[in-house]
Amino acid sequence: MQVLQPDSWQEALELKGTHPEAVPIAGGTDLMVELNFDRRRPATILDLTRIPELTDWGPDNGSLRIGAGVTYARLIAELGDRLPGLAIASRTVGSPQIRNRGTVGGNLGTSSPAGDALPPLFASDAEVELASRGGTRCLPVGEFVTGPKRNCLAEDELIAAFHIAPAEGPQQFAKIGTRNAMVIAVCSLALSIWPGRRAVAACIGSAGPTPIRALEAERFIAEVLDEHDLWSSGAPIPDAAATRFGELVEQAARPIDDVRGTARYRHHALGVLGRRTLSWAWEAYRCA
Ligand SMILES: Cc1cc2nc3c(=O)[nH]c(=O)nc-3n(C[C@H](O)[C@H](O)[C@H](O)COP(=O)(O)OP(=O)(O)OC[C@H]3O[C@@H](n4cnc5c(N)ncnc54)[C@H](O)[C@@H]3O)c2cc1C
Repeated sequence: MQVLQPDSWQEALELKGTHPEAVPIAGGTDLMVELNFDRRRPATILDLTRIPELTDWGPDNGSLRIGAGVTYARLIAELGDRLPGLAIASRTVGSPQIRNRGTVGGNLGTSSPAGDALPPLFASDAEVELASRGGTRCLPVGEFVTGPKRNCLAEDELIAAFHIAPAEGPQQFAKIGTRNAMVIAVCSLALSIWPGRRAVAACIGSAGPTPIRALEAERFIAEVLDEHDLWSSGAPIPDAAATRFGELVEQAARPIDDVRGTARYRHHALGVLGRRTLSWAWEAYRCA
């Protein structure tokens, strides 16, 4: 196996252009599992761990640009205040060892419907920055992920970064698993409150071929909040509306039966997560 080890981003893009078959490796927490189980045997690997540009993050036009190589541990420590939803999701990923190695770029690269970083990115309308030696393009994350473990990365491209708006209001993430740590989500839900545009965004994880925005639920709760002027009054969301929100989240899911859980259970659990994350986030908004 040939291992290419560029020291700069430009060199990495050149190498990906001349070796399109090369499989990138960042933290290796997905890729090494594939190699260990002999599910993949790439002839060439492109090691991205020596590229300083990939581990940078900073403000960018009112948004945040976060390098694909920023680990979960750094996201939690350095960006927890600006991206609370993504930080909560990051805390549920694997173990400290996995969070020290694993990157959001790798989660995007794998594009698993169970990838825990993805629902918070969807609920913030994040964009993925892709680069090749020919140039750079940005795609909404919902267009980047095209199916289970599929995305539209071209063979000469690498994921450079993602762009995400800092939180404007409370954000939540909740994940169902068979135990509290080191568990792949049976299903999950990310929820973000955007007071500036009077919106609530909700994205389902691990209950469909890709993460799914619960658009009907979002529309419903935006109407309730406006109709009762709850944005200004800060009154609680009526129980019936929170329950209906949960039902609409549940209806947006497209789960299958698999080893981790049945479709029926996932539907049920998402109804509960919808109601619960909305109540938590709205309580935080009211009390702020
Ligand atoms: C024990 C264990 C527990 C885990 N628990 C969780 C969990 O709770 N939740 C969860 O979501 N995941 C979990 N994972 C999976 C994994 O940790 C995450 O998906 C992580 O985000 C992968 O990041 P990485 O940097 O290690 O990716 P890598 O393994 O290095 O790469 C993953 C994929 O992305 C591609 N890639 C990486 N970087 C780039 C780039 N810049 N440009 C283009 N392609 C790129 C690679 O080619 C590969 O296909 C777990 C894994 C293990 C081993």
